[in-house]
Amino acid sequence: MDCIFCKIASGETEASIIYEDEDILAFKDLNPQAPTHILIIPKKHIESLSACSQEDSALLGNIQTAAAKIAKELNVSEAFRLVTNNGAKAGQSVKHLHYHLLAGRRMMWPPG
Ligand code: AMP
Repeated sequence: MDCIFCKIASGETEASIIYEDEDILAFKDLNPQAPTHILIIPKKHIESLSACSQEDSALLGNIQTAAAKIAKELNVSEAFRLVTNNGAKAGQSVKHLHYHLLAGRRMMWPPG
């Protein structure tokens, strides 16, 4: 499978890693859309949130608590956005579940 995020998770492709545990990896986005722009991924390949099942519930919860921890470590706890683009029409370009942690500028609502 030719998945760029699997390659980052396995160490085959370099990334600027800022958090790692047994199941989760977080690294800087290559094309940042905010002063802080981190991607948080499960190490195992899951195509998108739609592809998750009940058995992924703990993993999904752990991603959120990892996001809060990362935000704290990066001193952006007060204001950040955590978002996943699910499907091409929603802006998903990499078919490996990932959450964008964005901070450091004013966020607009609704997002485009
Ligand atoms: P999305 O459009 O929601 O699928 O987000 C994919 C994100 O992955 C984009 O913000 C890209 O800039 C980012 N990206 C793609 N390849 C890499 C990479 N090798 N390292 C870091 N970020 C990447």
